[in-house]
Amino acid sequence: MVIRNTETRSILVKSSLPVCEFSANPYTGCTHGCMYCYASFMKRFTGHTEPCGEFLDVKEWKPIGNPEKYRGREIFIGSVTDPYNPQEEQFGRTRKLLEELKGSGARISIATKSDLVLRDMDLIRTFPDARVSWSVNTLDESFRSDMDRAVPIGRRLKAMRLFHDAGIRTTCFISPIFPGITDVKAIIAEAGSYCNLIWLENLNLRGSFKGPVLKYIKEKHAGLLPLYEEIYNHGDMGYWESLDEEMRDFALGCGMEYTVNDDSMRRPFEAKPLIVNYFYHERIRKVR
Ligand code: SF4
Repeated sequence: MVIRNTETRSILVKSSLPVCEFSANPYTGCTHGCMYCYASFMKRFTGHTEPCGEFLDVKEWKPIGNPEKYRGREIFIGSVTDPYNPQEEQFGRTRKLLEELKGSGARISIATKSDLVLRDMDLIRTFPDARVSWSVNTLDESFRSDMDRAVPIGRRLKAMRLFHDAGIRTTCFISPIFPGITDVKAIIAEAGSYCNLIWLENLNLRGSFKGPVLKYIKEKHAGLLPLYEEIYNHGDMGYWESLDEEMRDFALGCGMEYTVNDDSMRRPFEAKPLIVNYFYHERIRKVR
């Protein structure tokens, strides 16, 4: 593992993501080493030659000037790294960011695969409408450990429950959904009572990880290979369209709302979670 200190001009950058106005990534790279890492494209811009998951740049930045200017603004922490990778325990860059923003009135959203975020719960709860999301795409530890080096699923779910019990909004980010492997309904049955929002996102294989993922499917789930080839080599959208229909019916049966737009912040905390379909975004969304 190669760990370096780097300087960055500004820790907060304007974002084009639909869920926020600014993003913050206290690290470059991520040591969770997910086989399907969506942030691996960052290597094109950072010049790292090490494999993804094998390097981490620890960012230094000048103190945020006038943090009050972010009052009411949505800041997404962890769009291309996990702000609570294990090294955060030592370097504390995410905690430093939160301390700088404390009292600013910024609305923060944190994405992680870790329970280290529990360390900062008291700080996070001082932000208006703060929310924390955990990626959970399986309840099967064997599959999880094949995919990433982050903490086991049980620890992610326990952290989610503790945040929710503390009155902080939580999101169960079911992503990426692996066709034929991710049991979306089972995850919702497990986490649905202690999250406010459920995001569903398909596995996309447009990155350099397509080869390794298909190789893994061939070796460990050979019976699913024809399905993966249909989807990822021939562009067949049938699986996602069926899952979309299935989840819409499932949500109805559970008394949950199902949508393609996230308006969860306007929902009461106690309401059942909203299920949000992010499958291929507008490509397969149907106008209803
Ligand atoms: S947690 Fe996110 S950024 Fe980190 S390796 Fe996994 S996909 Fe990449």
